[in-house]
Amino acid sequence: YAKTYQRGQLAWYDPALTSQTHERVRLLNGLRHALQGDGLYVVFQPQVSLEDQRLIGLEALMRWRTEDGSVIPPDRFIPVAEQSGLIRELGFFVLREACSLLARLHAEGHAGVRMAVNVSAVQFRNPSFLSELRQIVGASGMDAHYLELEITESIAMEDSAYVREALEALRTMGVQLAVDDFGTGYSCLAQLKQLAFNRLKIDKAFVHDLSEEEADASIAGVVIQIGQRLGKEVIAEGVETEAQAQILGRLGCREAQGYLYGRPMPVAELYRWLKSRA
Ligand code: C2E
Ligand code: MG
Ligand code: MG
Ligand code: MG
Repeated sequence: YAKTYQRGQLAWYDPALTSQTHERVRLLNGLRHALQGDGLYVVFQPQVSLEDQRLIGLEALMRWRTEDGSVIPPDRFIPVAEQSGLIRELGFFVLREACSLLARLHAEGHAGVRMAVNVSAVQFRNPSFLSELRQIVGASGMDAHYLELEITESIAMEDSAYVREALEALRTMGVQLAVDDFGTGYSCLAQLKQLAFNRLKIDKAFVHDLSEEEADASIAGVVIQIGQRLGKEVIAEGVETEAQAQILGRLGCREAQGYLYGRPMPVAELYRWLKSRA
């Protein structure tokens, strides 16, 4: 805690920083506690084919319910978990939950459905990531080809031997790769061309911006064209309206995810969702 203590001293002169540090320590302690108990859980959001609304995949998303019953969104606790190294355990927890659910769904006849899991740069750069991943996938009994890791542009674009080798090892395992929130970071198109990934995810901000009049000139449209040129699949996230789905379809997008089809759901609710569509 030397670092926190030092930060605390620094913050003596800056009340805003002190309360930020306190908040971080509080979140981190709560998070550790949640990981040991049952405060952390995973929700699953459907991904569908735009053409026929068939279920093609699920994205696993982390949730934290605190003891007072409030749910803290991942955007708030993941940065804290990353700074502290706790993300490593959180990440493996999500992977285990996701892989075992997928093995179960496949065994129950939902063949071909894939499972997408977010992996942050900090997790990805951990030297034990690959071996742990192999172990988790192996133990779950699922086929690695149906696991998709969602990585950020910053990992995808990192030109280091370690990242290149790790991505290569994933490919050898058969794991699929998606570049998440594409267009919000700094991608180098020349490098993107070299990268062996399967799917681009259009960020929900660009889906929100879609309008009938300017569809062709939209960022979503440009991302779809890049995907097509590179021979990659493109999935839109954050699809909330039928109008957005229609425009995306017209622009050549074939896959979508969003509240229009289903919210991120705990397992029991996901089963009800599956049943209601059967
Ligand atoms: P993301 O990977 O881009 O996930 C998509 C986010 O959009 C999710 O937010 C999802 O709930 C939300 N979303 C889906 N459909 C709609 C829609 O139609 N409208 C709107 N407004 N939002 C929609 P969520 O679950 O709060 O997660 C936020 C971010 O936190 C994720 O963004 C991801 O970067 C990160 N995250 C979540 N779970 C994990 C995890 O297990 N590991 C890591 N490393 N990051 C995670
Ligand atoms: Mg994602
Ligand atoms: Mg995304
Ligand atoms: Mg996003």
